[in-house]
Amino acid sequence: SYRKGGYHAVRIGDPFSNGRYIAQRKLGWGQFSTVWLAFDTLSSSYVALKIQKSAQQFAQAALHEIEFLSAAAEGDLQNTRCVVRLIDHFKHAGPNGQHLCMVLEFLGDSLLRLIRYNRYKGLSFDKVREICRCILTGLDYLHRELGMIHSDLKPENILLVSTIDPAKDPVRSGLTPLLEKPEGNANGGGGSTMNLIEKKLKRRAKRAVAKISERRSSMVGALGGEEAAASSKSERSLDGIDMRCKVVDFGNACWADKQFAEEIQTRQYRAPEVILKSGYSFSVDMWSFGCTAFELVTGDMLFAPKEGNGYGEDEDHLALMMELLGKMPRKVLFFCLLFMFSLVIDVCLNEQIAIGGAKSKDYFDRHGDLKRIRRLKYWPLDRLLVDKYKLPEAEAKEFAEFLTPVLEFAPEKRPTAQQCLEHPWMKVVSTQNNADNVESQVKNLKIKG
Ligand code: ATP
Ligand code: MG
Ligand code: MG
Repeated sequence: SYRKGGYHAVRIGDPFSNGRYIAQRKLGWGQFSTVWLAFDTLSSSYVALKIQKSAQQFAQAALHEIEFLSAAAEGDLQNTRCVVRLIDHFKHAGPNGQHLCMVLEFLGDSLLRLIRYNRYKGLSFDKVREICRCILTGLDYLHRELGMIHSDLKPENILLVSTIDPAKDPVRSGLTPLLEKPEGNANGGGGSTMNLIEKKLKRRAKRAVAKISERRSSMVGALGGEEAAASSKSERSLDGIDMRCKVVDFGNACWADKQFAEEIQTRQYRAPEVILKSGYSFSVDMWSFGCTAFELVTGDMLFAPKEGNGYGEDEDHLALMMELLGKMPRKVLFFCLLFMFSLVIDVCLNEQIAIGGAKSKDYFDRHGDLKRIRRLKYWPLDRLLVDKYKLPEAEAKEFAEFLTPVLEFAPEKRPTAQQCLEHPWMKVVSTQNNADNVESQVKNLKIKG
């Protein structure tokens, strides 16, 4: 990847944009870029420098991302809307070509790393609520004010707001103190970067699949000993970690009225209407938000489909959804009819006619049952949270009441980000705050007394 058209190799101390930015150390990487902590000599502050691969398609993608980040920055001068801020962008010429560079506000670890750090045990409801408030604030802004769909919302693309000053911690500079290993390859090189990432993703998906398929095979209450053992591993404190976060990675964003791709979103966070190819809108982000919120609470991916004997990944995904949420409503499957219709026209015109949602006839019979996965085991969210994840009944019920509408099959029935922010669950006063309040009231009373 460090060749013509690929990544730009960076050494610590390298200057960018006529010396304005000085590279400090690698923060991470993705398919398109490496991201570096850099010192901005103009504002005397730390920033994240995203250096795109140089080939034409990557430059195109960077321009796309810059368009969306700029729109988000322009509408949010106060920088309070929980979306990563684009500070600057420029071109950098290197031995591998011209690289578009984005200068972003410097943030901390991703929620994925937070979940991993917490040993996949899940965070407290209070912490999840704080995180959800940030994500929803960001989505509400993108959707309602900008008309933008993020299309790749997931824990990896939500970063904590860093509370550490990079200058004071030169070794692990700037990252929230929960890092075990730096993500990626800290000395900045090697051609096998992508392999590593792919391997990591595959491992994670595998683990999730193993856990989830357990749902179908072993029913309520049969929690494996392995899981119990895993959960008893030493506790880790999340005290002092600011749960504020921001939405990042606008490489796949689109405008609601100008979409670019039919297949969007990372598999596990993909909405049913995307799988069925029946058209999509803002509510696909709400679906991904629902999957993310579940993952924060439980430490497990909500859906981790895999291909099986005689059925594909899409069908397994739909089956997992139906096991949790019940049968797909007729309305969602209505394009079955449309498809029949299209077939008739097809035959008449002898042409391939593309009709949205046509996929459903591949997967469903006319009763709305999956053709190739017949035995589903219904395990609704509130029971799953109690029986499998051992969450307290009352809290699980409240959370399930919040989350279930977000995971509506029918996209138009899902609440908007704004409506979610207004939901009673979002307004529950945290038990910790409650305790603090009582304490301070008692103190006040004593002072008054
Ligand atoms: P992808 O393959 O996910 O599309 P990408 O090349 O578009 O990757 P990003 O996902 O934007 O790159 O960033 C790669 C990594 O760099 C992130 O996972 C994160 O670890 C780190 N990173 C990105 N932006 C920031 C930031 N503003 N502050 C701190 N770290 C960041
Ligand atoms: Mg990313
Ligand atoms: Mg990206």
